[in-house]
Parts: sequence; structure tokens; C-alpha cells
Amino acid sequence: LRERLLKTVGKNNYTTWIEPMKFQELEDGVAVFSVPTNFVGNYVSQNFADLILYELNTSGEDVRRLAFRVAANSPARPAASADEADQQNEIDMLNVAPVRSASVNTPLDALQTAPLDKRFTFERFVVGKPNELAHAAARRVSEGGPVTFNPLVLYGGVGLGKTHLMHAIAWELRERQPELNVLYLSAEQFMYRFVQALRERRMMDFKHLFRSVDVLMVDDVQFIAGKDSTQEEFFHTFNALVDQNKQIIISADRAPGEIKDLEDRVKSRLQCGLVVDLHPTDYELRLGILQNKVQQHSATYPDLNIRDGVLEFLAHRISTNVRVLEGALTRLFAFASLVGREIDMELTQDCLADVLRASERKITVEEIQRKVSDYFNIRLSDIIGPKRLRSYARPRQIAMYLCKQLTSRSLPEIGRRFGGRDHTTVMHGVRRIEELKLTDGQIAEDVEMLRRALEA
Ligand code: ADP
Ligand code: MG
Repeated sequence: LRERLLKTVGKNNYTTWIEPMKFQELEDGVAVFSVPTNFVGNYVSQNFADLILYELNTSGEDVRRLAFRVAANSPARPAASADEADQQNEIDMLNVAPVRSASVNTPLDALQTAPLDKRFTFERFVVGKPNELAHAAARRVSEGGPVTFNPLVLYGGVGLGKTHLMHAIAWELRERQPELNVLYLSAEQFMYRFVQALRERRMMDFKHLFRSVDVLMVDDVQFIAGKDSTQEEFFHTFNALVDQNKQIIISADRAPGEIKDLEDRVKSRLQCGLVVDLHPTDYELRLGILQNKVQQHSATYPDLNIRDGVLEFLAHRISTNVRVLEGALTRLFAFASLVGREIDMELTQDCLADVLRASERKITVEEIQRKVSDYFNIRLSDIIGPKRLRSYARPRQIAMYLCKQLTSRSLPEIGRRFGGRDHTTVMHGVRRIEELKLTDGQIAEDVEMLRRALEA
């Protein structure tokens, strides 16, 4: 490992920065090194951490993070207590997904054929309010006309269609202008190629390759945040292409300005072009996507019948992440064809019980306390506080009961959120309401109304 690092970073860097580090331990994917000073730790972490991680992972270790500790017997260390020093000096490093061995030995030029998903085309992309702008921008870029906005940045949460749109652009460009050199890759792949090029001393090839593309697409750019040498190279690649008026398309899981540990100059470059976000899906879009997918599934399962109301139910109940929605539908079709039944509500509830449960909105203790105090027209502090008056105690017990029913909190946890009460107090309150619900119609109704309001 040291030999390879020596080759990669060069002799000077190696003797100054890497040589003084000592490997200490590997625990839970965190490799801990001792360093003579904080300064060395910081420098290494900012400049070489991604290289070290890469080398560790390619040599078979499974390391996600590096941590640096200032060595206890280091002469340069100020006289502080050991505990204090440890806390101060443990520098938290990057998170890197382990290197997949497949990507390690592929030659640089294999990049040209980074695979595109056949299903991710414009034809199959359903447009709705939340994604219409992103879609329009992607369409425009895919026409391959003169470069109007550079870069195009698509951002949004997981499963909202960023990768789909990027692949769609690539397919379209291939179709319309096959002579163009279109390169799509994830930021992660970019980093691995870069590190590989460094190690194999093929930086010239790397630079040449990346600077000769006509359209560069880098997916999930947030991945390079905190990986400083990779960011640096990305920055230069980016500038070189923009100078040549080549189209760049980037995706990220949040707005460029909000990506932590992304260098300011990279952020500002990204913000120079057109930045559009994919909003969380709404009901109509989800329904549209489901209808679209049903048509595709029908080709595979021509005999399957889907009852009215099922798609509406799914669009209503399943989260904004389209991937989850698709997965649910695929499962439903497979299940229905296995058991030879039509897809109705009953089958849907059976087959997707876990998905439906997981996507249920989580009700919080605070929410319950607030709703209950509103309902009984008392103050939130009266519910949580110590007062024992019946007019506070009863609503408080109802709130505790609802917390037990509607959240996954334990009795002690609920007690803590009710002004630090004991779990036996909570248990007593819950039991009391259970009894009263049977004998006191008013209380039964109050509880029912509140439950419905909370679950709405
Ligand atoms: P992201 O890259 O934003 O995390 P993806 O592009 O991978 O999300 O999309 C997740 C899945 O949802 C893919 O299978 C994709 O085809 C599908 N999908 C997302 N948005 C749409 C849409 N508007 N129409 C059709 N399919 C969509
Ligand atoms: Mg993606």
C-alpha cells in the first residue's frame, strides 16, 4: 500500500505527509491513523484521503472512512489532557462507498460505453407539474442545438427521475447526432477513474479523454464533496469543457449551494448555468406514472385485470419516491399472476402490507400534544406540565393514550416527553383511557375524533 501511495503522490508528498502516519486500527469500516500533528492530519485528509481510501479498498480492505489521531507521544503535541486531545484531534473524514472490484481494472477508454438504461427514455418519462421544468430543460439540451445554458444542473431528492432524464438526454443525442461524443458517468465513477489514472500515471490520458467529449454528464455530483483532489480535477475538466463550449449536464441530490463540503468555486461554476429542481411528486404525477407503468406491465401479463380504485389508492398512499412506487406495482403484478387473481384492494393490501406501513406518515408525540391541547382548548404547557387538575389531567391521559397507539415510542420515552413523568404514570393514563372508552361515550368520541384528525 505504501509503495503504491508513494507512486501516486510522488516522493516529496510522500515523505512529508504519508510517511509520518502510522496505521492504528480498523474498526467498523473506519481506518484510524496516528499523525504527528493536527496539521498533518488535516492536510492528509484534505488532499490524499480519497487516494488512501481508494488504495485501501482496492487492496481488499473494506474501509469507508479515515480518521486521524494525533499521536500521544508526539513532541509537537501541546500539553493537554489525553481525553481532550483525542476529541479535538480526531478529524472526521470522508465517506466513500467501497470500490467495486469491477471498476478497478477497466481501461480508461472503456468509459465510452458507460451503460445506459434502456427504459430511461423520454417516451417513458411522465411529465407533471413537479418535473415539467426539468423535463423541458432536458428536452432542450437533448436537441443538441447551440449550447444555451451551461451547465444544466438537475437536482432533487432520491427517486425523482434525475438519472432517468440524464439517460434520456443521452439516448436522444445518440439518435439525433451519433457523431457526438457523449459521456455519461456518475461522480463516483469519475473519482475512481481519476484515482486510477493517478496511480497508473496516466493523467495525460485521463485529461485527454475528458477534454475531448462533446457532452459530459456527471450524475450525483454531491458524491465528490469533501474529496478535494477529485473536486480539483473536476473543476479543471469542467472549465476546459465550458471554454470549448461543450455541453455539461450535472445532477445532484440538492441545490449546488447547499452541498456541504463542496468547494465554493465548484458551487459557483454549477450555479452559472441553468439550475432546475425536480420537486417531490404529487398525487396526479404518481397516478400518471402508475398508469404508464400498468401499460408496460400489461405487455408481460396480458391477462391480468386491475380493479378501479387500486391505482388511486397507491398514488395516494405511497411516498413521493417513484422507485418505491414502481417497485410496489411490479410486486403487485408478479404476486397477482402467481396466485392467479385479479388485482383488487384486498390483494393490494395483502401484497403490499409492508410497503404501505413503511410509507405511512409518522405521527410525532409533539403533534399529538399539540392537537390534543387545541382540541380541549388548553395550552400545550398544561398538557406537558405538572398540574393535576382534572381539566388538564384527562386531556393529558388522552394524549398519552394516543402516543401509545399511534407512535412507536415506548412508555418511558413517552413519559420523558410529558415533562419527565415516570413510565408507570403513562401506563396508568393509557389504562384509564382504555377503560373510559368503554364506559364514557364522550371520551370515546373525543379519542376517535382526535385519532382521525391525526391520521388524516
Ligand atoms: P434519481 O436519479 O432522481 O434518484 P431515477 O431517475 O433513478 O431517480 O428514478 C427512479 C425510478 O423512477 C426509475 O425507474 C425511473 O424510471 C422512475 N421515474 C422517476 N420519475 C419518473 C417519471 N416522471 N416518469 C416515469 N418514470 C419515472
Ligand atoms: Mg440517480
